[in-house]
Amino acid sequence: MKITFCCMICGFEIQADTSMSKIRCNCCKAEIAVPYRPAEKRYDEVTFYRREGDFQMGRAICEEILREYSKDVEAHFGRLLCRYGI
Ligand SMILES: [Zn+2]
Repeated sequence: MKITFCCMICGFEIQADTSMSKIRCNCCKAEIAVPYRPAEKRYDEVTFYRREGDFQMGRAICEEILREYSKDVEAHFGRLLCRYGI
């Protein structure tokens, strides 16, 4: 999923994919951390993609959550639903 935020060094608008943890600013060339999104907000994205039938994307977000919180029940459940295309 794409998000837009401003470079914390120069204020330039940056577009990044949320699967990335860092991105280089096109203006000042600084390496910037992609802003953290709380897991609760990402569950909504998983639900959105499942409803759209994009299970691959839903699963990718679940796996992103699981990399941070390996015991996250919601993310495990979401990944399972995506695997079976539910
Ligand atoms: Zn910058």
